[in-house]
Amino acid sequence: MNFEELGLHVNIIRALTDAGYTKPTPVQEQAIPAAIEGRDLLVSSQTGSGKTAAFMLPALHKLATAEVVSYSNEKTPNQERQSARSRGDRPRFVAAKPKMLVLTPTRELALQVTTATDKYGAYTRRLKAVSILGGMPYPKQMQLLSRNPEILVATPGRLIDHMESGKIDFSELQMLVLDEADRMLDMGFIEDIEKIVAATPPTRQTMLFSATLDGVVGNMAKRITTEPMVIQIAGSASKHENIQQKVHFVDDLSHKNRMLDHLLRDVSLDQAVVFTATKRDADTIADRLNIAGFAAAALHGDMHQGARNRTLDGLRRGHIRVLVATDVAARGIDVPGITHVFNYDLPKFPEDYVHRIGRTGRAGRKGVAVSLVNHAESMHVKRIERFTKQLIPVDVIEGFEPKKTAAPGRTSARKPQGWKPGDNRKSGYGNSKPGQRSFSKPGSSTAPRKDGGSAYKGSRQAEGGARRSFGDY
Ligand code: ADP
Ligand code: MG
Repeated sequence: MNFEELGLHVNIIRALTDAGYTKPTPVQEQAIPAAIEGRDLLVSSQTGSGKTAAFMLPALHKLATAEVVSYSNEKTPNQERQSARSRGDRPRFVAAKPKMLVLTPTRELALQVTTATDKYGAYTRRLKAVSILGGMPYPKQMQLLSRNPEILVATPGRLIDHMESGKIDFSELQMLVLDEADRMLDMGFIEDIEKIVAATPPTRQTMLFSATLDGVVGNMAKRITTEPMVIQIAGSASKHENIQQKVHFVDDLSHKNRMLDHLLRDVSLDQAVVFTATKRDADTIADRLNIAGFAAAALHGDMHQGARNRTLDGLRRGHIRVLVATDVAARGIDVPGITHVFNYDLPKFPEDYVHRIGRTGRAGRKGVAVSLVNHAESMHVKRIERFTKQLIPVDVIEGFEPKKTAAPGRTSARKPQGWKPGDNRKSGYGNSKPGQRSFSKPGSSTAPRKDGGSAYKGSRQAEGGARRSFGDY
């Protein structure tokens, strides 16, 4: 299957050739023809699988091939402005009337979508895409809107402000995209999204992208789409087989820091993202790494937008080798040079683990994801393993061995052979009983064991039992 066969406009194919795309990814193969047909879409597929092009290519195609009817009897906002001026009226602001709206959870993601749109639309000249974001100076936003862009990419909060002050009119909107819908809901945007959707014509085409289509996302999806085509791409890609995942156990902070410095010197490392739990840690660690001679920079939500953009730009250009970031700030970052992801701190939610490691191994490349874990946190690793339905091998580096050792046979980075869900290999461990597994419920305390090593071993070997009761969590 190639892009021509998907029915895309020649000018779009030309841009894809320039971008070095030779064939569509699986999600694009399914989504593009359906979207061109005008169907609503509900799509879940892993990060890095090419979802941006899956909605933007058909959208550009439709906008490029659409007959110019909408303004035939009307003046464009620009013409209206000009004639108002020539009549000597006070120039008044004419609301922008976008044809397509893409909602994203973060500013970085919005900018990324806009950049991708410029790339895919390089030869469809009439089409303009702009981002409307929190943190952008207001006059700049007004200037962007006054150009009446066909495509608007926005975070929900800021968009609402403009809608409420009459700067945007969705009466001509044809396509609505919710990118990373699950994340937008996690971030509490549900009311904003509902409000925005209510302001768009019911005839619009709606495309929703999400890591999961269950629960809250699924409910919202049902409300805002009409007979959607559901596309769920699973298979080897969802297991992140191109990303080598590892756990390294550490004894304390100094051990962790020494190990990180060591791992950052890996010759196969091109660029890396180090995830921390807090903004302060991101700053502190970035400073420390800089002093140690790594070209490091922090990225987190307390930084001004200008500084965040500069940092991302430095990362894309390769001036920054190590980005030290919090979950929200690094969401959706797509920089091909990122070969390694380090979890300096484990993420709070297993879902975030998947989003974090997805910063590497983009577009079929190989990547490495290393979690630095205290012995007391081994239960968190188990939760992640349950969520991803994969075991993460424990690795030990010579000279950096933890004082407490993991169980024998679990010390190499080899994947366990022949392991199947429900395969409860050594079933003699008490902690395979559901009653004793309350440790992983949020808020419950972790009962300390006398011997951390064997607790780890026990929990690992109870894997099969734990998996059978996956639904308990
Ligand atoms: P997702 O939104 O699914 O996480 P993105 O849309 O950000 O993924 O795409 C991930 C990377 O893959 C980007 O760098 C993009 O340029 C690249 N990409 C997308 N589609 C293709 C393709 N058909 N061929 C090659 N690279 C692609
Ligand atoms: Mg995406």
